Amino acid sequence: MTVEVDVAIVGAGFAGLGLGIRLKRRAADERTAESFVILERADDVGGTWRDNVYPGVACDIPSHLYSYSFRTKPDWSHVYPSGAELQEYLRECAREEGLLPHLRFGEPVTDARWLANDERWLVTTPVAQYRARVLVSAVGRLSEPRIPSIDGLGGFRGPVMHTAAWDDTLPLADARVGLVGTGASAVQLLPELARCARHVTVFQRSAPYVVPRGDRAYSAAELDELTDAAARQRLREQIFWDAETAFPQRLGVPEAIGELRDRARTHRETQVPDPVLRAALTPDYEIGCKRVLLSDDFYPALQRPNVTLEASALKRMDVSTAVAESGARHEVDVLVFATGFHATRPPFADLVAGRDGIRLADHWSDGMRAYASTVVHGFPNLFVLDGPNASLGHNSAVYMIEAQLDYVLGALDHLGASGDPLEIPLDAEDAYVAAIDAAARDTVWLSGCTSWYVDERSGRLALLWPGYAHTFRERNGTFDPAVYRVPVAS
Ligand code: NAP
Repeated sequence: MTVEVDVAIVGAGFAGLGLGIRLKRRAADERTAESFVILERADDVGGTWRDNVYPGVACDIPSHLYSYSFRTKPDWSHVYPSGAELQEYLRECAREEGLLPHLRFGEPVTDARWLANDERWLVTTPVAQYRARVLVSAVGRLSEPRIPSIDGLGGFRGPVMHTAAWDDTLPLADARVGLVGTGASAVQLLPELARCARHVTVFQRSAPYVVPRGDRAYSAAELDELTDAAARQRLREQIFWDAETAFPQRLGVPEAIGELRDRARTHRETQVPDPVLRAALTPDYEIGCKRVLLSDDFYPALQRPNVTLEASALKRMDVSTAVAESGARHEVDVLVFATGFHATRPPFADLVAGRDGIRLADHWSDGMRAYASTVVHGFPNLFVLDGPNASLGHNSAVYMIEAQLDYVLGALDHLGASGDPLEIPLDAEDAYVAAIDAAARDTVWLSGCTSWYVDERSGRLALLWPGYAHTFRERNGTFDPAVYRVPVAS
């Protein structure tokens, strides 16, 4: 079965649903009505918020900013949204915005190729083929769990799970759990795990910087005030501009980064009285280089009698003994990997073939790259959301996605009027990437730590936008056809 559509969107998380909502709303006007499908490999919407259901999962960007500006929600229960509340929000968006007829669940894309003669994308899933004028990748950057290769893991007979594939049927009450990693996921999970497991050993390869979180429920009076759309808009703007003030920290501006360092140090000193433990929890790289974590209960959880901090990596498994890089041996019944995602090398890029059959993964062999962080030379009418240099270390990902949606809609308007496929010239992409690389050079993200923000092979800052969030919108939120009007070089 081959289905003709104007736009095929891959992924039903924040980015894919956001585009779906914008397309659906503009379809009310016949002149801009595009047919579209959202292809989703799972059986529900939500992306990372559907997949990550480990105890304690939440977002560290405030609710009123980490939601669509075009679909605000008056009754967020807390300053920070829980994973479950976000998932419910996204489900409600899909339902109430009329996206259900456009969603194709259980349809993982297995191949997508540009048909030059037809000027269409041929997108294949196990269920159908779609001939689409425009292909939009909205697969996310935190969608493919990464488990490090650990010698002897195959010989471990207990359950092994990644935080993004949580199994809540596992009986943990009597279990000795090995928790690998101390990133954003581990820091949220540990307090919950320590409450229910017999023992938890935390394998910390690098100590994270942690600052206070200060979450709280909104009061009845606040909730009442937030029924007013203008009040929600004011709160949203206040949270956004407060977050923007953190960017100079990422540039290493001495006063700004000093204030952030002090906040993390004071938090450590206040919450970890034991100097030996505190030393083990003190990072040895510049603050902000990896994601700065927000938690009020991670350090207290580490000091519970049933929790051990192993201040080195998990190196190998010797049947049920987890052997650390330090040589220490820990008996475990269950292993939990909070070890992140394949963010810099998205497997989806292997499935996409553009003009002349070139694979997106090959075009990205030196790290992900795109013009306007959204369009890629050699891949006509392809738009990549939440991909190269479109994430942030200091503000809301949803804001970035919305700027990209405006770009895509502008491109669709242009395509509707002109008819010719859109392919960004190579020199435009090169110049954009060179500007990104130059801006990235002086940021804290390239100050020498390892993180998923940086492409492991090229050392390029491939994931993050090296600027203020509002400058991303200024630079990339408006489609400009002029830049496409030069001959395409191969
Ligand atoms: P992550 O930030 O990539 O952290 C992975 C952790 O695993 C790191 O601590 C890493 O250590 C560690 N690790 C890898 N191999 C190891 C080994 N053999 N032994 C010990 N440790 C090992 O992954 P994540 O925590 O899942 O977070 C990923 C991203 O998801 C976050 O940065 C954030 O953007 C998002 N997230 C957000 C929230 C939120 O509140 N908004 C919550 C959860 C996740 P090294 O540091 O030494 O590499």
